[in-house]
Amino acid sequence: MTQQILRATLFHTPRNAFTEERALEAYADGALLIEDGVINACGEFASVRRIYPNVPVRDLRGGFLLPGFVDTHVHYPQVRVLGGLGYTLLDWLEHNTLPEEARLADASYAATIAHEFVAALAAHGTTTALVFGSHFAPATASLLETAANRGLRVASGLVLSDRNLRDELHQTPEQAYRDCTGLIRRFHGNGRLLYAVTPRFALSASEAMLEVCQTLLSEHEGLRFTTHWNENVREIEEVVRSFPWAADYLAVYERYQLTGPNAVLAHSVHSTAEQLQRLASSGGSVSYCPCSNAALGSGFFPLQRHLSAGVRFALGTDVGGGTGFSLLKEGLQAYLTQRLAPEPYLLHAPQLLYLATRAGAEAMGLAGETGDFRPGKSADYVYIRPAPCCPLANAIDRAASLDRVLGSLFTLVAAEHIEEVAVAGNIVHRRECCPHP
Ligand SMILES: [Zn+2]
Repeated sequence: MTQQILRATLFHTPRNAFTEERALEAYADGALLIEDGVINACGEFASVRRIYPNVPVRDLRGGFLLPGFVDTHVHYPQVRVLGGLGYTLLDWLEHNTLPEEARLADASYAATIAHEFVAALAAHGTTTALVFGSHFAPATASLLETAANRGLRVASGLVLSDRNLRDELHQTPEQAYRDCTGLIRRFHGNGRLLYAVTPRFALSASEAMLEVCQTLLSEHEGLRFTTHWNENVREIEEVVRSFPWAADYLAVYERYQLTGPNAVLAHSVHSTAEQLQRLASSGGSVSYCPCSNAALGSGFFPLQRHLSAGVRFALGTDVGGGTGFSLLKEGLQAYLTQRLAPEPYLLHAPQLLYLATRAGAEAMGLAGETGDFRPGKSADYVYIRPAPCCPLANAIDRAASLDRVLGSLFTLVAAEHIEEVAVAGNIVHRRECCPHP
C-alpha cells in the first residue's frame, strides 16, 4: 500500500453550488491523503496530520490543488482548426472543420492528432472528458488507445453521419452498426474508457442512423450518448425541415429514446422552457460551451432557464469551435457572458469550480469516481503554481478570502501555471517535461 499526503491550498465543491449552501470547501493550509490512487482524507493539514502522523508529506505550499477538470464536450479531430474566426456554425463546418476531419482517414495522421489532443487535455488539467471521436473507426480507436496509454478518463465514440456533410465522412447505418459494435467490444469499460454513441447531429443523421444509435444503447450496458442540440438558429430550422413529423429538434432525439440519464446534449443555446422541462424529466444533461457560443456567434446560453427547469449542465470547451482546452477559461467566459446575457446571471467562483469539475462528473455519470476530493474518489487533481511576482501571484497575495483566491485562479491561470496533473494519483502531465509521450 502506498500512502502520501499532499500539502497545499485546496479547493473543491463536493455539493451542487447552485442549490446548496456552502458548496465550496477550501483550506488555506490543506491536505489530501492519497492511498493507492484513491482519496482517503481531505481537510486542514493539521487535522489530517494528527490522524496520520507517519504518512510521508509532499510539501506543495505556494500552490493550489483543484479536482481534475471535466470537459463534457470536445472534438478530437479539431485540434488544428482552432483559431478559425469569422464563421457561424454551418459555414464553419463546411469550410474550416470538415476538410480537416476528412484527413483523419489517414491512420498515421490520425495517430499524430490523437497524441496532440490527449497531451493538450492533460496539459490543461483535464482528467476526464466526453470526446467526439472521428468519422473513421481506426482514428477513433487511435484516440481511445492514446487516452488509455496516458491514463485519462475518456468516453468517446465513432461520429455517425449519413447525409449533409462530405461524402467521405458518411457511412451507411449498417456499417456504423458494425464499426460501433467492434469498438464497444474492444474499449467500453476497459480501464477508464467508456464508449459514447455519437451521432454528429440530427441534421447529418437519417432516421435509420438514429435507429442504430437506439439499438446500440439497448444492446450494451452503460454506454454514454452525446450529440449536438439547439446550437444555431439556421441549424434548428433545417433540422425541423428534415424531420417533418417532429414538433421540434428535441422531439427527433426523443423519438429514438436518446435523451435519457446517459445523454449529454451539447449547446442548448436556443432551448425553450418547455423543451428543458422535457429534457429534465428524461434525465439528460447539457454541455455548456461559453467560448464556442461566442466565437461562432451562436447566442447566449439561457443559464437561468436551465436552472429553473432543473436540467443538469456542465462546461465544455468545444475545441475547435471553442478557443482552446482550458476549463478555467470556459469558467471565466461563462462568468463574463452571463453578466451580459438578456437574462443576466451573476456566477460566483464556487459555481465556476463546480461547473468545471463535479457538474461534469455528474453529467457523465461519473460522480461516484471523480469531480471532487471526497474520500473514496479517485485522486484526480490539478496542481497550479504561479511564478513568484507574476500578476497571478500578486493578485493572490492581496486576496482577502479564499473565494477571492479562487476567482483569481479562474481569471488569470493559463496552461503555463499548471505544474502537475494526476489521475488516480498517477501523474499524466508535468510542466517541465514535454507532454508528448
Ligand atoms: Zn461540438
